[in-house]
Amino acid sequence: MTLRTYTRLVALVGRPNVGKSSLFNRIIRERKSLVHNEPGVTRDRIFGRAEHEGEAFYICDTGGFEPTSKDNIKIQLVEQAEIAIEEAETVIFVVDGREGIHPVDSELIRRLRKSEKNFIVCVNKCDLPKDDIFIEEFRKLGVPGIYPVSAEHNRGIGNLLDAATAIFAHGPQEKKEDPENPPIKLSIIGRPNVGKSSILNRLVGETRSIVDARPGTTRDTVDAGIKYHGRELRVIDTAGIRRKSRMADKLERFSAFRSVACLEDADISILVINAEDGATDGDARVAGYAFEMRKPILIVVNKWDLIENKTSKTVNEFTEKLHLDLRYLRYAPVVFVSALENLRVSKLIPMCIDLYDQSKRRNSTSQVNNVLKEVLLKHTPPMLKNKSKRIKFFYATQVGVLPPRFVIFCSHPQDLHFSYKRFVENAFREAFNYKDIPISIVFRERS
Ligand code: GDP
Ligand code: GDP
Repeated sequence: MTLRTYTRLVALVGRPNVGKSSLFNRIIRERKSLVHNEPGVTRDRIFGRAEHEGEAFYICDTGGFEPTSKDNIKIQLVEQAEIAIEEAETVIFVVDGREGIHPVDSELIRRLRKSEKNFIVCVNKCDLPKDDIFIEEFRKLGVPGIYPVSAEHNRGIGNLLDAATAIFAHGPQEKKEDPENPPIKLSIIGRPNVGKSSILNRLVGETRSIVDARPGTTRDTVDAGIKYHGRELRVIDTAGIRRKSRMADKLERFSAFRSVACLEDADISILVINAEDGATDGDARVAGYAFEMRKPILIVVNKWDLIENKTSKTVNEFTEKLHLDLRYLRYAPVVFVSALENLRVSKLIPMCIDLYDQSKRRNSTSQVNNVLKEVLLKHTPPMLKNKSKRIKFFYATQVGVLPPRFVIFCSHPQDLHFSYKRFVENAFREAFNYKDIPISIVFRERS
């Protein structure tokens, strides 16, 4: 098993109407979508996770960012390019083959070249083989990697992605892990300045862990390993935590994205919230994703030292408010810490290990069916919509861990109301003592 310690991001940059969003959709379409279809979880259309030839990466359509400055195309484009240059491993510069080189294209290419960032040029709208000739004009740009593509007609995408992902193979070496006993992948996420680095430093310091820095070709990654009573944890994307990004600060959306990417790669995540600010919209967005991906989360309210006049009620009130603002994360335990004063930080690692162990717990099929029987006794299955008969439940089984995943076979699963499904889910969580983590239940047809 290999472990990724940094976020692989490919950014699409280019003038409006060249076809970035068409290309984005084309690239992420390949991905098997998440099975969960809960109401209210919004998807961000600008970031997506994609796969190409077994390489997983994230893709970002910078054209989807609202301009932070005047509505001037050139300023907007320069800003996009800056984000891409600062945040991405690879930039795909998209141009319109039918329009030829635009002055702004040349300017952006100059900037990209100066940044020494890995980038390739995608000449879009080469709809037919004969259109591949469009790329000839773009050779004037003096860039070696120029690829004819048609986003609309699905031409040339494979070659383009071969080139875009080739850089990953030369990126920082990934560590080979013991497949029997893999370390727990931990990510520390949250908005800029909430105290992620400070917490990381405490965790690493407290447990006298090894921090090894290995220079990579595209970015220096720092891999933090933590040992605790014979257990090993690895903090992923420490580079993303330590690197202070000007653009990500400016665009809250970007830091939220980085959080989502880390969430997906981690077994357990610590979501850090600043006690003074409480949960923000960005945190709520991250919470929605965490729930959708059924990821165990530990909510850490940091800078607790700054809250004055604390009484015995303060913690409860704060927790209630948090669970209201982050309603998807009701399952997540909350800890109040101060990285500055080293208050309760030592609780975090044992709590993360506990969440991990809960997530890995497996139950036998007979246990699962006993619980299902009890659940059905407590709450009779609903009637079919036309009231002719009740929905029938046959049997259930646990099909996986991390998170615990169950399949329940029943008649007419499509007629099961969301509230009944939630009732079953909560009953399962209680019965199997998955008290602090999310589980996934799929209701499958069997008549
Ligand atoms: P963006 O502004 O760069 O994100 O561009 P869009 O993806 O919104 O595309 C702009 C226009 O170009 C739309 O009308 C698309 O249908 C069209 N378009 C995108 N890709 C292609 C392509 O490969 N071939 C052709 N002929 N049109 C395309
Ligand atoms: P990051 O951007 O999330 O990694 O945040 P940092 O760890 O860099 O912290 C941002 C700022 O908050 C720094 O000035 C820290 O000294 C400060 N800070 C971090 N944790 C605490 C805390 O527990 N209490 C107080 N008062 N300040 C803190």
